[in-house]
Amino acid sequence: MGDVLIPSLMTGDCNDTICVRASRFWEFYDLNDETKLLHADLVLLDEEGNSIHAQIYPNAFQRFKTLIKEGNVYNLACFWVKKSNDKYKPVTNENMISLSTWTTIEVVVEIPHAFPMFTYSLTPIEQLPSRVDYTEYFTDVIGIVTAISNVITLRARGRQNDSLKRVVTICSESNASMDVVLWASGAVTLAGNSPCKWYINLDVPEARALLSSIGNTNQPIRWDQQMTPTKATPAVEHKNISEIKDLNPFKYKKMDFLVTMTIRNIDSSWWYNSCYKCVKTAKPYGDLYKCTDSECNYIGKPVQRNKLSMIAGDETGDTDFIMFGRWVQRLTKKTADTLIAENPQGFIPNEITRLLEKKSNSMSASQKTQQAPTKFASRSMQ
Ligand SMILES: [Zn+2]
Repeated sequence: MGDVLIPSLMTGDCNDTICVRASRFWEFYDLNDETKLLHADLVLLDEEGNSIHAQIYPNAFQRFKTLIKEGNVYNLACFWVKKSNDKYKPVTNENMISLSTWTTIEVVVEIPHAFPMFTYSLTPIEQLPSRVDYTEYFTDVIGIVTAISNVITLRARGRQNDSLKRVVTICSESNASMDVVLWASGAVTLAGNSPCKWYINLDVPEARALLSSIGNTNQPIRWDQQMTPTKATPAVEHKNISEIKDLNPFKYKKMDFLVTMTIRNIDSSWWYNSCYKCVKTAKPYGDLYKCTDSECNYIGKPVQRNKLSMIAGDETGDTDFIMFGRWVQRLTKKTADTLIAENPQGFIPNEITRLLEKKSNSMSASQKTQQAPTKFASRSMQ
């Protein structure tokens, strides 16, 4: 066995040998270029079940790809120990390991029977809403598969290309259910994104407890034929600003249109405290927040949610737009929480100001010098 256990690792060069199981092993590719490997990742476990995240950079990857097989146990030496990443950590550990071309690796053949195979930190399905937009750790869940849909082809709102989608429904002991949506090739092979791993009927205490809790009431898995046709939905109609300004809002409420426009101005208040339950505005209420919706009235911690009020237009005119939550996140590539944490109070993040057109005189000045929000015309929106 190794010289030290995972908790004894100190940041810096490490010459000690650790004896670890490669519990999970995945490759992470550039989201815009599926042939470009950014890094490969491992969850390593020692004989006491302590865990650490390890990363391999592309220059060393080919070697490890042939040497490491998920599930095997290895003696590792000559690696670098550093502070863990801030985001998307697979396990709780303030450190992580970096494997390089200098790292020595030797397979362990005689593995003690009790050497752990897996590690996880389960979030109950009922508590998953609190993990929305949470990026510090990956989330682990356990559930009983109750339904699997067929693969459907659809075009997501605002997207130009069709995508494949499959929905797997899982449920908890108390019957809370949750749809797991698999996209693209994962919809065909029943895989999530690359760090995601499915364990089916694992022999662990939590799975045994879940199985015994449902006793004989277990139903066969339902095959869910989704109603959406398996051919592409028709592409949305293109319109310009002057055309959509003339549409009767009552008549066209549920219609989607595609408009290409330039953002001319963004209001300085770019997020708000939203109700955890219904996403309407929540106002301070003692130490907590209370939902302003009279039918909801939920009191609790608020969720910081993006809300961009902006003026945008094309050559036919300008008009007001409001963009919420994930639509904003898709442009900024960061959660509202992250942007708030990274920017001083009252400051509009660069990720948002860079959405503004570059040629506008007043705006380009603000963009370059990252001025305080007073530089932006403030405008109240109905
Ligand atoms: Zn509410």
